[in-house]
This record gives sequence, structure tokens and C-alpha cells, in this order.
Amino acid sequence: MSDKVLDTNLIAFCGLYCGECGAFKRKRCKGCKENAKATWCKIRTCCIDNSYASCADCKDFMNVADCKKFNNFVSKIFALIFRSDRKACIDQIKACGREKHAQIMSESGQQTIKRK
Ligand code: SF4
Ligand code: SF4
Repeated sequence: MSDKVLDTNLIAFCGLYCGECGAFKRKRCKGCKENAKATWCKIRTCCIDNSYASCADCKDFMNVADCKKFNNFVSKIFALIFRSDRKACIDQIKACGREKHAQIMSESGQQTIKRK
């Protein structure tokens, strides 16, 4: 049986897809949306305060690369280590919608679009 989970609620505020994260699959984490302990994350707090499903809904920045909260120091380090391109994830949500983003990430088995 497939362990793939297709659920738009598993799209993180920053565009990652928690449904394909190892911690989620091992039931060690319920995903970004449910992780109330992640108060350190300015992206998560900003989206919750603005009632955005993700930064793809942001009315202040058409390009998330221009947002200092989105491009904070910690996120840059993580992006380098994990070759993660969260901006590409947000751009994909904008281009094809949340359902399709979740489907693409689930089918490819990837938590993030990889940096090229
Ligand atoms: S970086 Fe923030 S928004 Fe992205 S998955 Fe982690 S807690 Fe969620
Ligand atoms: S792009 Fe920046 S300002 Fe816009 S929702 Fe995301 S963190 Fe908030």
C-alpha cells in the first residue's frame, strides 16, 4: 500500500510539502500547520496573523524573494544544507494552485523543489 498522502493542509506556510517529510511520515511531527511549537518561525507567524494559507497569498510581496521574513538567515542556511528552493514551491502554488502543488510534491516524493 502506498504511504503517499495528498492533502493541501500539509502544505507548509513557506511552500514546503510536509506530507513527504521524513519526520511527518515517522509520525514525529504533525506538519507545519499543526506545529504550534514553531513560534520561532516568522513566516508561519506572519501567515497566521494575516490568515494566509501560505506566502503565495501575500498581498505585500508579489515576489517572496523580496521579503526579509521569507529570506531570513536561518532559512538561507537550511536552504543551502537541504538544497531547498521554497521560493520555487511558492511560485508553483501561484502557477498551478494548492491541489496541484500537493499532487506534484506527493507524486514526486519530495518535501521541497530542489535548488538547481
Ligand atoms: S520554515 Fe516555518 S513555515 Fe516553513 S515548514 Fe518550517 S515552521 Fe513551517
Ligand atoms: S512573503 Fe513575507 S510578508 Fe508575505 S506572508 Fe510570507 S513572510 Fe509574510
